[in-house]
Amino acid sequence: MNYFEYSYPPQDKEDFYKKPYRYAFPACKMVGNLYFVGDCSVGAHVLKTQKGIVLIDSLYPTSQANLIHSLWSIGVNPEDIRYLIHTHGHYDHFGATERIKTLSGCTTFLGRRDYEMFQTKPELSFVGESRLEHFDTFEPDVLLDGDEVLDFGDVKIKVVATPGHSDGCLSFFFEVQEDGKTYTCGLFGGAGLNTLNDDFVRQNGNLYSRDEFAATLEKLLAMDVDVFLSNHTMQGHMKEKWLKQQKDGKNPFIDPTEWKAFLLGVQRKFNEMLSASALN
Ligand SMILES: [Zn+2]
Repeated sequence: MNYFEYSYPPQDKEDFYKKPYRYAFPACKMVGNLYFVGDCSVGAHVLKTQKGIVLIDSLYPTSQANLIHSLWSIGVNPEDIRYLIHTHGHYDHFGATERIKTLSGCTTFLGRRDYEMFQTKPELSFVGESRLEHFDTFEPDVLLDGDEVLDFGDVKIKVVATPGHSDGCLSFFFEVQEDGKTYTCGLFGGAGLNTLNDDFVRQNGNLYSRDEFAATLEKLLAMDVDVFLSNHTMQGHMKEKWLKQQKDGKNPFIDPTEWKAFLLGVQRKFNEMLSASALN
């Protein structure tokens, strides 16, 4: 399979929906028992734990085959997934959730406030944008408030509420081991400003989200992370890292500077957006 023959990240949404195989991304081991199984647009991750396979996010509904192919290519039978955790309730992160749930009977997790959004303002999940007639939001088994620790035996995921991009957005922190060393992984669940700009706020009346997002960034900046994970592939520079991994065998995913550099970049763009905003 030839990867990266088409635009990265996908520029033509129509082509991305209709020919998702063009935007597959090579699944790869990142650090220890942590794997990347996203496509060229959206990141998804697998943790192989003592309590079974944990999947974080499930991509666009049209990318289900890419996800399943990626799972097989890292030696995971999709039927063996035990837990499926979501960073937030937008359809590009839960597109294959019903399929994986049907295949595996896994337990699904979602932020409580995003589940409330499913019930009161389901259009904010962007399901309508999927253009799939029978695609809908899903019923999570476990609702998270963002102050939990999920215990998977050798892996314990600290769940942190990071509202802003969506009300129920969650970020995840956990440790992995490689070559006798322990590394802290951090996954920021929602860095996109698309739900915080003037047009969106005017339409949806979520001005409060801006204050929440500002507090989220401060909270995350105070944390130390060795392995930066992103649920959008380009944000995590995954293509460059993957190419590097093929070349010299040195682990390109371990970089204790990346977490804060990324957050500061988001904060700068966010502050620029606020300065130019007609709302306050
Ligand atoms: Zn989103």
